[in-house]
Amino acid sequence: LSDDAAVVLLGGGQRCVLTSDMLTDEVDFRLEVCDPRRVGRKALAVNLSDLAAMAARPVAVVVSLALPRRGGQRLARQLYEGLIPLAEEFDIAVAGGDTNSWDHPLVISVTALGEVAGPEPLRRSGARPGDAVLVTGAFGGSSLGKHLDFQPRVREALLLNANYQLHAAIDVSDGLSLDLWRMVEESRCGAELDLSAIPIDPSARQLAASLDDGVSALDHALSDGEDFELILAVPAGEAERLLEDQPLSTPVTQIGRCTSERGLWRQLEGGAREALAPRGYEHGLDG
Ligand SMILES: [Mg+2]
Repeated sequence: LSDDAAVVLLGGGQRCVLTSDMLTDEVDFRLEVCDPRRVGRKALAVNLSDLAAMAARPVAVVVSLALPRRGGQRLARQLYEGLIPLAEEFDIAVAGGDTNSWDHPLVISVTALGEVAGPEPLRRSGARPGDAVLVTGAFGGSSLGKHLDFQPRVREALLLNANYQLHAAIDVSDGLSLDLWRMVEESRCGAELDLSAIPIDPSARQLAASLDDGVSALDHALSDGEDFELILAVPAGEAERLLEDQPLSTPVTQIGRCTSERGLWRQLEGGAREALAPRGYEHGLDG
């Protein structure tokens, strides 16, 4: 898939945006150590993050559950106790879904429908050489908690899209450097990063200090994933205005700029640059 969500033509020139995510116990989280309410909330929040990347307004979701037979009813109740408040916060209809039980771990799948705010949905493919690369929030160390409790950047995306000219966007699910690389690849350009400008989450520093595995806080910020922040490509003049305004409750930071040369680069002193390998979580399939 080339965007965070699919754009569906409805006739009469109308369009909607559709996205779906499936989370599995023992793969994406472990119910053994994790409150099911946080899992229910996350299952919705990851979809909202994808809608945010398209600057789409969430309208409705359907929720499908495959519940383990043992304790399934209680588990379903707890999942909804986590999911419903987030749906209410964004005024989203939980429009149905399906519930089954089986002799295996929990699977929860949420499909979300969004409406396109503005004339065009925001895509990954619109970045141009010379655009500023901006990010919301900070990166790295999400495994310490943010991967479950993050705030999807829906309001932020709608506000930015309504008030500034944005060329492209993606949400960071798999790693800042990997998702940035995906965005510029779709745009058939590249990006060079000022590594000293990357906002590092305190959790990334905590993780780097506690693990003693040679992975720096910056490495965590570049590759951990599940930050669910936005990366934006913004024309230089607009970026200047946006950075000056700081219109969000979370900081917006410029971390680099788009280049005509493909790939990812890090800026060196004196205007030189060297290649930077995109790293993050790849959803691998064998065979
Ligand atoms: Mg995404």
